[in-house]
Amino acid sequence: MIYLNGNFLPIEQAYIPVLDRGFIFGDGVYEVIPVYSRKAFRLGHHLARLQDSLNGIRLSNPHTNDEWCNLITKLIDYHDSDDQYIYLHITRGVAKRDHAFPTNTSPTIFMMSNPLLTPPEELLQKGVLAITAEDNRWGRCDIKAISLLPNVLLRQLAIDAGATETILLRNGFLTEGAASNIFIIKEDRLLAPPKSHLMLPGITYDVVLELVETHSLPYTVRPLTEQELRSANEILLTSSTKEIMPIVSLDGKLIGEGRPGPFFHKLNQLYQHYKELTMRGKQVSSS
Ligand code: PMP
Repeated sequence: MIYLNGNFLPIEQAYIPVLDRGFIFGDGVYEVIPVYSRKAFRLGHHLARLQDSLNGIRLSNPHTNDEWCNLITKLIDYHDSDDQYIYLHITRGVAKRDHAFPTNTSPTIFMMSNPLLTPPEELLQKGVLAITAEDNRWGRCDIKAISLLPNVLLRQLAIDAGATETILLRNGFLTEGAASNIFIIKEDRLLAPPKSHLMLPGITYDVVLELVETHSLPYTVRPLTEQELRSANEILLTSSTKEIMPIVSLDGKLIGEGRPGPFFHKLNQLYQHYKELTMRGKQVSSS
């Protein structure tokens, strides 16, 4: 069952007109919200980022946070898995093809849920490979826009190379991954690139920074150079569906000793614990 413009219906029966501006222009924004034990994780943060993305494309929010929360609860209830991820997508709606914003057009609102399969333990024990590429995306990567062609092409470079992620560099500085945020560890200190228009403000990125702050682990948020990335002791990627993953090789060269390091193990333990604490007994709510 999916949600489309006010109705819950089987995905096979869900259609949108070909003139939808999402289809024609990629004119829309989206969110991906993990659900653990049938409860949406950090829903308030995801809805706040959705609002920022909508502001970024000058589209008004079709729902209040309470309405989103009710719709998401219903969607979760339609599905069997305890752990799911909600894909939420809003476009500027259906209109005659013209770049200019249409007047009096309702947005298209679509949500679906799929089982959430977090990375298997063996992969976390072994780590994953990454490559680098020049970040050739636009200047508003902070908007979670559905027009993902550059990210698709960049991520495919990793797949073609037998790697998991493409780490992006813009003018010699680390921005993020094609579908994740990136942290490095140097001399037992976590280093994170600062939020800017050039990266997506990840919800998992925020959780990581909150955890290191709370547990008094050394960290610094500052611009990171290509050289610092390449000489890191550890590299981590984060996203709502992949959580925290250790990267053990970059462009074919080992990172540190070529296996997940102590900072990863500590942080992942804190993350899993935090997840359990937050979700235990908590009902889905928009805060
Ligand atoms: N950056 C990009 C480009 C992404 O697509 C994603 C999510 N897949 C992230 C960062 C991580 O964001 P979050 O932790 O909110 O999933």
